[in-house]
Amino acid sequence: MSTPRYAVFGHPVAHSLSPRIHAAFARQTGIALEYTAIDTAPHDFVAALDRFAGEGGKGANVTLPLKEAAFAISATVTDRARRAGAVNTLSRNDGRWQGDNTDGAGLVRDLTGRQGLDLRARKALLLGAGGAARGVAPALLDAGISELVIVNRSPERADALADALGEPDRAHSRYWADLGDLGDFTLIVNATSASRDGKGEFSLPFGLATPRTLAVDLNYGEAAIPFLAWARAAHCHDAVDGLGMLVEQAAEAFEAWHGVRPDTDAVYAELRDRDKVLVTAD
Ligand code: NDP
Repeated sequence: MSTPRYAVFGHPVAHSLSPRIHAAFARQTGIALEYTAIDTAPHDFVAALDRFAGEGGKGANVTLPLKEAAFAISATVTDRARRAGAVNTLSRNDGRWQGDNTDGAGLVRDLTGRQGLDLRARKALLLGAGGAARGVAPALLDAGISELVIVNRSPERADALADALGEPDRAHSRYWADLGDLGDFTLIVNATSASRDGKGEFSLPFGLATPRTLAVDLNYGEAAIPFLAWARAAHCHDAVDGLGMLVEQAAEAFEAWHGVRPDTDAVYAELRDRDKVLVTAD
């Protein structure tokens, strides 16, 4: 029998740590699998996924900018993927793709479990309304935040996300240009890809932060440097990057595919050691 195939689809995707994480989980659990990265432009995504399925593909992770497209092609979706309107995990069942979204669970598990932080009653600002923001927003609401203010460069995407969440008393959108007028927040989540080239500063009003604020960047590695530098300059209490979320969302996908929950601590420690930087929780 051939080795079961899994892959991460994205554009670009060469940076993805998912092949390394899933290989580590596979070694740890003794499960034989092949996991590769497949660079796919949005216009070729459906065809590439069909080819992958035809070659025996059993499961796929999906990263930017394909998560909303993955939702659209899923024959069925889990409840958390439906609430997100975005899919980051596809499973092949009976010749059809089932879509799930493990981003939100991964983020909350990292923040509350690994980092030991309490999200309840925090007033939250979510920067971005792309696939990742869609994944984490419902999970943050479920984790007990008091309010979610969504701000995106393209305001119509922030409006659409707020509408999809369907909790107008707790979740609403505001304009990026009005960031200076929104008051302060005890949770600020950067779910934009603005710093992915690793250049430049993250320019936000310092008045958004308080000495109790938890600042979270979904990015990791060099892409997280500008936002975390802003968070420290703004005297946020905690500044956390997205490496732990990355490992936890991968573990959720691994469990969905293989029925075994891998231990994430060793994999997280190995990747953190490699990156040498970027998490403080003081
Ligand atoms: P998408 O392409 O779906 O969305 C990108 C988001 O970034 C949009 O809201 C976009 O705004 C915004 N954006 C892009 N450039 C700028 C800019 N110059 N200024 C302000 N906003 C900008 O990507 P994803 O949502 O999938 O991913 C977002 C980031 O989160 C990525 O960098 C990704 O690596 C990271 N991520 C990390 C994960 C983890 O496990 N740690 C998991 C998933 C994602 P607009 O709508 O106006 O274009």
